[in-house]
Parts: sequence; C-alpha cells; structure tokens
Amino acid sequence: MKKYFDKKEIRPIKERKASQDRYLANMVKIGYKKSGMLKTILDSQKINPAKIKTRENLETLTVTSREQLVEMGMQEPPYAGLENPGTKIDRIFTSPGPVYEPHLSENDYLWARAFFAAGIGPADIALNAFSYHLVAAGLTFHNGLRKVGATVVPSGTSSSQIQVQLIKDLRVTAYVGTPSFLMAIIIKAKEMGFDFKKDFRLKKACFAAEPLPADLRRNFEAEYGIDTYQMYGATEVGDVAYECSQKNGWHICEETIVEIIDPTTGKSLPSGDLGEVVVTRLNEIFFLLRFGTGDLSRLIIESCPCGRTSYRLAGIAGRVGDAVKVRGLFLAPSQLKMIQAKFNNIPLQAVVNRKGHEDILKIIMEKITPEIGGAQWEQNFKNIFKEICTVKVDQVEYVDKGKIKPDEKLIVDLRKW
Ligand SMILES: [Zn+2]
Repeated sequence: MKKYFDKKEIRPIKERKASQDRYLANMVKIGYKKSGMLKTILDSQKINPAKIKTRENLETLTVTSREQLVEMGMQEPPYAGLENPGTKIDRIFTSPGPVYEPHLSENDYLWARAFFAAGIGPADIALNAFSYHLVAAGLTFHNGLRKVGATVVPSGTSSSQIQVQLIKDLRVTAYVGTPSFLMAIIIKAKEMGFDFKKDFRLKKACFAAEPLPADLRRNFEAEYGIDTYQMYGATEVGDVAYECSQKNGWHICEETIVEIIDPTTGKSLPSGDLGEVVVTRLNEIFFLLRFGTGDLSRLIIESCPCGRTSYRLAGIAGRVGDAVKVRGLFLAPSQLKMIQAKFNNIPLQAVVNRKGHEDILKIIMEKITPEIGGAQWEQNFKNIFKEICTVKVDQVEYVDKGKIKPDEKLIVDLRKW
C-alpha cells in the first residue's frame, strides 16, 4: 500500500525549494503580464518581476491582508484584478467581504494530501459537513475526498439530526467538518438514543476552519474512538497544511510557499518563532502573492518520523488582527462597518461566545430610533447581516443610546480555546 500521496512529499528539502522557486519565478512572470493588479502592485513598490526568483526574494513585496484583499475586490470587482483573464474559470466562490475567488483548477486535488495522511481512502464513506453553498469549502473538500477514492455524502449544513440519520443509514466511516459540529452531532445522537461508539462506524474525522482544543480531541479519541486530524487552509489560497499520523505539527502542502513573518516588518522570522502565517499558492490563475492569513504560528524544521520531508506548522496560536472566526466563518470589523453604514451608522458591537461546543454570535446595538428592535426591523437586520457577513446572528440585545463607547472594539471574542 502507498505510504505517501506522491513522491513530492518525500523529496529532499533542497529539491522542493528549487522546484518551488522555479514555479514562483514563472508565476510572477506570467502574473505581471496578465494581472493588472499585480503589475500595479509591483510597479508601485518598484519591484522588477524578473528579480523575484526565490522565496527569499518575495520578502521585498508587502504582505496582502484579508482586509486589503476585500478593498482591492471592491476597487476591481470581481477578483481584485488578480486573475488571469486568459483562463476559463469553472467555478466562482465567495468569501466574506464580499470577496469573489476563481476556483484554482478543475483538476486540482486540494486537501487530498490531508485526507491521504489521515488514512482516508476507497474503503471510506465520508460525510462532508462543510457548506456547499457559495463558499469554497464544500466542493473543495469533496474533490479532495474523491481524489483519494472515498465515497462522499454531501450533507453540508444539514441539521445535526439529519447528519445522525445519514451516519447511521449509510454506514459512514469518516467525518469532514468542524470539531464543534461533530460534537453537536454526537450529542444529538445521544438524545436520539444511540451509542455513538457502538452503533456507528464513524472512526475518522478531519477538521478544518476552527481550532481543535486538546480536551475536545481527547474526548473524541478516548470516549468515542474517533481518530482525529487537523487540516489548515484558507479560501484565498486553498489547502496550506495537514496533520500526519504523528499528530505533531502540520505538514506544509507541496504547492504552497509558507512564510512565518513579523507582521510589523513583513520579514521572515527564524524557525521556532511565533509570527504571522503568510501564504503564496503556486498557480497560474489567481496571482495572490504573500497572502497574510492573520493567523499566528511557528515553523518546525526538524524532520518528521512519518518520512515526509516538508516543514511543519506548530498549530495556530491565535489571530494577529481583530477578525475572528464564528462557526468557521470569518467575521471582520470591516464587515460590521458595512452593516453600520446601511443602518444610519448605528453603534453596535459583536460578541462571540461559546455555549457548550457551539459558537454564539450576539449583536449588541443602541436603540437610536424608536423603530429599532421591532420584530420586522430585527428580521430585516438579521437578513442583511447574513448577506454581508455570511454568518448568522443568534441573539440581538438592545441598549440605550450612548451605551456603546466610540472607542470600544467592534468585535469582542469571549471564547477560551
Ligand atoms: Zn509527519
């Protein structure tokens, strides 16, 4: 049986770097010709594209944050001017902002390395509980599962009761989704009178889009006999890193250049130092160089006993900026500002907390006019909030005028991971 997804995973470190550098130089060359925005960026920073030949040369270029990408997307819709207009795009996704992203390739196998490393293969029936609706997650994970030969149940964001039914009826063996949702499914199964460990065949889980707290992982593994794996990526750049059976750091994907930088200087930090994860995905469709994820991590350069030679990320230690993830979806201050603009600049604040294993999003806002707080008004507000932020509001609390101070944070995250 194959031990690795492909030979790239076990190539010598020098060979990987040389190959990625060659690809990068070519990507910049093509991007400079095809993408108006990349040309503008490089010209304005007085960078000669021919001078970017290695990952080290990338450091001359500023990092593009998610917030900046949103602004660029508004200036040059729909893809921020970063696309290759000569490429036929098969699918278009949205991510909060609104930001639109072209699917990188119909023949890609994003996440397949991660699923392979988690031991998922043709014998598996995998429940894909990521949304298939507009966002990249559902279809992208689906393709990765198909690439390793698994049968996919595209359950998406169906209710936990339906997910339990599917796991039971279809004898599902693997779960792909967020850890909090799997726990909600397990709790629902108990309510429905099942013994999750004995009655079901689900023995593997691949998680993304939110952290996996150590105690929750222990619970899944010890209590329910589920082997858990973490995967890391972003809509803008695809899969970035994945866990192997050693469960000690996440291997960086072969098609991805990852830098750990000091967010204040934009320069790479020594391995082992905590810094922002900056990603450049090697491709010829979407020329997003040095995407700043806003996530904090460290690089592990020591070799892994599994045999893969790629460097690893030591998990995610938190967020550089103020944007937070709610049920796996980003909520950024810029989005709340857009909502405020739609509602007469109403003072408001988003508070993210947890109830059990589920995120709860509460919006506190000032009752600046009498109609605010009425049932119809609130429904309209919630609808517009969902449209702009993708994520759903769970609770709304109204406070008197003047209660929210102008210098207070727009988003308060009360969760403890
Ligand atoms: Zn490994």
